[in-house]
Amino acid sequence: MDRIVLLPGDGIGPEVTREARRVLEAACSRRGRKLEFVEELIGGASLDARGTPLADDVVRLARQSRAVLLGAVGGPKWDAAPVDRRPEKGLLRIRKELGLFANLRPATVFPALASASTLRSEAIEGIDLLVVRELTGGLYFGEPRGRALVDGKREARNTLVYDEVEIARIARVAFEAARGRRRHVTHVHKANVLEVSQLWVEVVDETARRYPDVELTHQLVDSCAMLLVRDPRRFDVMLTENLFGDILSDEAAMITGSLGMLPSASLGEGGMGLYEPVHGSAPDIAGKDVANPLAAILSAAMLCEHSLGAKEVAADIRSAVTAVLDAGHRTADLATPGQAQAAVGCAKMGALVLAGLDR
Ligand code: NAD
Repeated sequence: MDRIVLLPGDGIGPEVTREARRVLEAACSRRGRKLEFVEELIGGASLDARGTPLADDVVRLARQSRAVLLGAVGGPKWDAAPVDRRPEKGLLRIRKELGLFANLRPATVFPALASASTLRSEAIEGIDLLVVRELTGGLYFGEPRGRALVDGKREARNTLVYDEVEIARIARVAFEAARGRRRHVTHVHKANVLEVSQLWVEVVDETARRYPDVELTHQLVDSCAMLLVRDPRRFDVMLTENLFGDILSDEAAMITGSLGMLPSASLGEGGMGLYEPVHGSAPDIAGKDVANPLAAILSAAMLCEHSLGAKEVAADIRSAVTAVLDAGHRTADLATPGQAQAAVGCAKMGALVLAGLDR
């Protein structure tokens, strides 16, 4: 039996993870897989109850489990707290403690939602890309860093550094993912200017030799940003370093439309993963049963694929979501103006997906 740690967090986190858990449990059980769920606190909820945004025993529990399914953290109640007592510290800590070095963000257009994008629907129909971003190295973590006063002028410094081991392990994640998809990796870099990118090109080429069945393209980051809005369908798996990935994953995600639809996975060694919707805790709609649970439900599908090795369960969940959208059901964030009255709530949307599993 695989143990899943549930960390609902704050705001709409508990509402959307409740639906994701129901769907995950039912979808696994239909395929003969039993799961054990343990629910724990993170973020503001943990600060209130335990005085820390993430307790040590929760970290230990997560380490001894198959995967973590998380809602969201934060909210106005804790906005004025000192830096070390802020809800997002809990999130940063669990990512670090679990050694999650690969961030996977799919950008998929559900045909029924093609009109939600700001791009013309003929440009986005059929988009199915996956951004694989390195998460623990690069400019955000490199030393030396800091500010100084030099010759009477304020100066600031950050360091971009990667070694070949860090590059090879994230490259393998991208090539493995491509094998389960359309077998094409686009490596995004700035090798015309940066030595670090030149090393990435070298190491990605070396890794590619072990995946002769996967096609590899190297793409400069500036032209990639343009291609992503001009012809997003050309991309399958996009592999890149931390800073480029931070920007391009948001660009790719927004091409598809709604924040309430975007799942993510952060992976470490040996199948350990943390799965969470891209959106935050949405305090403006918390507790009203109007949040869209599909990003959390699609995050649960990623959990099946990457931490349970249950691709068929992941496919079942995605098909059920597609069927519910095709049938015209929408939460308020997806409803077209004038139809918001007819929108379904968070629990109802969860129930529809659950029913969709048994179509
Ligand atoms: P947000 O994503 O919470 O909300 C932005 C807007 O999108 C809001 O209008 C919200 O109502 C709407 N929205 C978000 N998710 C939705 C869903 N599932 N269904 C329907 N509508 C949805 O971002 P924000 O308002 O900038 O931040 C709110 C809080 O969340 C802050 O405390 C922030 O720090 C935190 N946050 C947490 C995470 C995380 O836990 N990973 C990520 C981003 C923001």
